Amino acid sequence: MVSRILQVECSDCGEEQAVFERTSSEIACGDCAAALASPTGGKAEIHGEVVDVLEAREA
Ligand SMILES: [Zn+2]
Repeated sequence: MVSRILQVECSDCGEEQAVFERTSSEIACGDCAAALASPTGGKAEIHGEVVDVLEAREA
């Protein structure tokens, strides 16, 4: 199974953080605590700007 990791730039402070595309928990910016992603049951809803996409292969 391949899951994607999104590099999300915080729209408030510009800090970049890696977020799993299918996260099941709320992701907050590590710098200013603004919400970066919210779980929806499928793909996370991204609140910042996606600047890069990485693929992670799971066993
Ligand atoms: Zn921030």
